[in-house]
Order: sequence, then C-alpha cells, then structure tokens
Amino acid sequence: MIFDVKILGCNSASFAFGRHHTSQLVNQNQNLFLIDCGEGTQLQLIRHQIRPGRINHIFISHLHGDHYLGLMGLIFTFHLQGRTEPLSIFGPQGLDEIITVQLRHSESVLNYVIHFHVLSKGGEVIFENEDIWVKTVLMNHRIPCFGFIFEEKLRKFKLLREKLPSTLSRENLAELKEGQDIVDNEGNFIPNADLAVPPAIPRKYAYLADTRYLEHDLPEVFGANLLYHEATFLSDMKSRAESTFHSTAAEAALFAARHQVKTLLIGHYSSRYFDLQPFLAEARPHFSETVLAVEGQLYDIKHNQLLESSENHAPSRANR
Ligand SMILES: [Zn+2]
Ligand SMILES: [Zn+2]
Repeated sequence: MIFDVKILGCNSASFAFGRHHTSQLVNQNQNLFLIDCGEGTQLQLIRHQIRPGRINHIFISHLHGDHYLGLMGLIFTFHLQGRTEPLSIFGPQGLDEIITVQLRHSESVLNYVIHFHVLSKGGEVIFENEDIWVKTVLMNHRIPCFGFIFEEKLRKFKLLREKLPSTLSRENLAELKEGQDIVDNEGNFIPNADLAVPPAIPRKYAYLADTRYLEHDLPEVFGANLLYHEATFLSDMKSRAESTFHSTAAEAALFAARHQVKTLLIGHYSSRYFDLQPFLAEARPHFSETVLAVEGQLYDIKHNQLLESSENHAPSRANR
C-alpha cells in the first residue's frame, strides 16, 4: 500500500537558492494530504504534475507565513477549477477567520464547502479513515504550533482463500481475520498460521513543524518509520535557533535518536545556507540515518526502512 511523502518546499522564512517555503504532500493509499502550504505551493504542485483537486485534507501547522500564505491561492484555484468536493482544513485558531475575511472582502462564494477544524491541543486524533489516523503533537514555537503524526491502522489478518476448508463457519472466518486459532464445525483445531497471514506492521510518519529543541519526549513519535524534524540552523547559530524558537541539525538528530525512529528527514533550512551538506555532516554523528529534505523528491515510507522511489535519486545522494 502506498505511503510516501513528497517534498514541495523545504526552506524556512525566505525563498532562496530555488528552495520554496514549507509544504509536503503525503500519499497514503491514493489519499493525498497536504501538510503546510507556503507561498509557491500551487506552482510546485503543477511542476510535479499533481492535480490539486485530488487534495481533500490540508493540515496547517501554525500561522507563520512560510507555512500557510499559499493557502488562499489554492482555495481560489479549487473554486475556479469547479471543485464541488468538500475540503477539510485543520489549523490553529485564527486561520478560519483569515480565510473568511478574504472571502468576504472579495465577495466570493465558493462552489464547495470548507470544513474547518481548529487545533487546540496535542495528542488529539483529528482525522481518521479506514487506513490511518492523524494525531497532533505540540511544538515549542513562538506562536501555537502543531506537528502531525500519520499512523497506519493495524489491518486484519489476510485469509489464504485457496486453503480454506468448506467446514468453516462465518465466525471461524472472523476469528481467523483477528489472528485467532479456530475449531471448525467438525471439531478440528486449526492453527491460524495454516489459513491466514498476519498484516504488515503499521507504519508511521511524524511531521514536526517549527520548534525549539524539545527536551521532553513525544510518545507519539517513538519508532516512527520516518520523522521530519526542522533543522533551520547549524550549531554555530545555536543561540539564534533558541531565540527564534528553531532547532539545529544536531538537535534534530538528537531528538531522532532519543525517539528511536528509523529515518530522520531534515528541512526548513535558513536562507543563509546555500550548501546543505554541512547539515548532514552535523546530524549524522548523532543519528546516522539522516537524509536531507530535497524538493521534488519522494520519500517512500517502507516497513522498517526507507527506500527511495524509482523516479528519484536516493535521498542521501540527493545533494551531491
Ligand atoms: Zn517556518
Ligand atoms: Zn514558524
């Protein structure tokens, strides 16, 4: 089942060196979830041949411009394209007001409905479908800021249809799907493993938006197959990182190591840096499985390891 992340923007406050403001697209089983929508996100969607109309859920981490100033344009584009599907937007308090004011002053009536969900606390399940749920975590930033955890649900055991005897009842089939051994209508004991295979281990993508280094643990992040953590600065700017409520590459790596994630993806680079290799050099001594967020690249979230999609280069080689 598809579960990947495409980086649409990886820079922080300023556009620089061809790097755009923050935006990512999560694809889980062909459902597209947009995380943050900095200025330029629409153009990035076009550049990467993603139809905006396929996006039904947008998650905005906080109200600094580099994370949401592209949203209004996208909302109008949906309208101009004749969208009728409802759009769900998850964001901090105030975002609904910003959207409403702009619609009111342009005397615009959208031909689709926006369902707005105000984020208020961490550890909350804000969305779920049959495959995944999305939870919030709290960042430590200058204004209210949220991270999002995309976690697959545990699926049922898969029946080996060609091996199923005719003596099984409907209850037996349900028990097999739950991973239980069964006793059939004729009293035969049948181990589950004879007739079913266990589901894959659920995968988890943790997106942590702008934050100062978190000294405390976030239980929701533990064991994530992929963790995105901001790394705005290198350690020589540590005091600046602290005063602006951002993190360094080393801090992102320390956080990843503490949370035993499989792979760390860093981004939200300051526009002062042209060369991103020093970010890897600083992070990897603390957490070797660190890769750079590079725009246009697709990061597949594989079971217990990160594999790059065939259309791109490996993340670790992306910036050579
Ligand atoms: Zn930012
Ligand atoms: Zn910010």
